[in-house]
Amino acid sequence: MLDYIIVGFGLAGMSLSEQLRKKSKSFVVITQEDKSSSVVAGGMYNPVILKRFTSPWDAISQLEYAIPFYNKMQARLNVQVVSPLPVLRVFTAVEEQNNWLIASDKPNLAPFLSPKFIKNDNTAIYADNNFGVVNKAGRLQVAKLLRAYKQELLNTKSYLKEAFLHSDLEIMDDHFVYHGVKAKHIVFSEGYGMKENPYFKYLPLNGTKGEVLIIKSVNLKLDSIVKAGVFIIPLEEQDCYLVGATYHWTDKSWEATEEAKIELRNKLNLLINCDYTIIDQLAGIRPTVKDRRPLVGRHPMHKNMYVLNGMGTRGVMVAPIVSSQLYNYIENGDELASEIDIQRFNSDYKEIDI
Ligand SMILES: Cc1cc2nc3c(=O)[nH]c(=O)nc-3n(C[C@H](O)[C@H](O)[C@H](O)COP(=O)(O)OP(=O)(O)OC[C@H]3O[C@@H](n4cnc5c(N)ncnc54)[C@H](O)[C@@H]3O)c2cc1C
Repeated sequence: MLDYIIVGFGLAGMSLSEQLRKKSKSFVVITQEDKSSSVVAGGMYNPVILKRFTSPWDAISQLEYAIPFYNKMQARLNVQVVSPLPVLRVFTAVEEQNNWLIASDKPNLAPFLSPKFIKNDNTAIYADNNFGVVNKAGRLQVAKLLRAYKQELLNTKSYLKEAFLHSDLEIMDDHFVYHGVKAKHIVFSEGYGMKENPYFKYLPLNGTKGEVLIIKSVNLKLDSIVKAGVFIIPLEEQDCYLVGATYHWTDKSWEATEEAKIELRNKLNLLINCDYTIIDQLAGIRPTVKDRRPLVGRHPMHKNMYVLNGMGTRGVMVAPIVSSQLYNYIENGDELASEIDIQRFNSDYKEIDI
């Protein structure tokens, strides 16, 4: 009998796989590969909300956990996926510079917001009021890391590329059986796919569609992330950049749209003044939650069934630490923080849902 079945292999499922591997637990991953938010993610980690110059929830502990976690994975898997990159925030007015300086004095933002502004010397960028610099930010090549991790799992026959059919899951007293595979625990990390999961669909996963463009521009010459109306993130391929992202709360389709392309192009054209070609457009649905906190914990009725979801707009920073919290909850009996524990939604659960 295996220790775990993990359903869904995006940032959440991969992070949990790594927690299990480190503790020599046996597991199998069952996952589809389409409808994945992780593979379209820009992969940015950025400990500051750049609209208001505030700190996202728990950002310091998330970052302190996530970066060594990914660094160890890239070393072990022998892939280069973590790139520390400063984020240059374009100031639209002098007033914003003042707000930045006030924010950079606050203890939770001081490690990240440099009080020294940088003059813009890139003629391809419109930034007359200079840049504010966010330190300790960067990019994780999520799709590349998932591919490398998947290969390792394939080598040990621990990865099944297929849709998990919830109706085929047999629930026994102290284990589960799925298509002949027996396991003590099952963890669902299906991202927005959780909407189709009869055990956890009572949870308030809203989903926020996002789209990005991949562009090529020989004259842009950026080696930092730049943020104004959109982010421009340098990619590994020569002269290529990711531009994004959009936020759409009602469209729940996974297809790229003309509307998003126009929105991103318009915002990009306000930020750069050089030629570029759009070479791709990607769309995904972020697993966002009503109260903007992850969905982690044990099913109200089935004792060895768990969920790891709700990574929201910041899965790169959030997934490693919450996967460790879930592991310690299951294996060591540690308490989950009430803000991530799905018990906060117990009143929404009705047994009849199943
Ligand atoms: C356009 C865009 C840009 C983004 N940019 C960033 C960024 O720069 N930085 C950042 O931190 N975050 C970013 N995000 C958010 C980030 O992508 C998510 O927080 C994170 O990837 C969610 O990971 P996940 O593993 O929970 O879900 P997913 O990545 O969606 O993975 C879920 C997996 O489960 C599979 N699955 C679902 N149902 C089933 C089933 N029944 N059977 C088998 N498999 C199933 C799916 O096919 C998928 O492979 C972005 C998102 C979007 C859409």
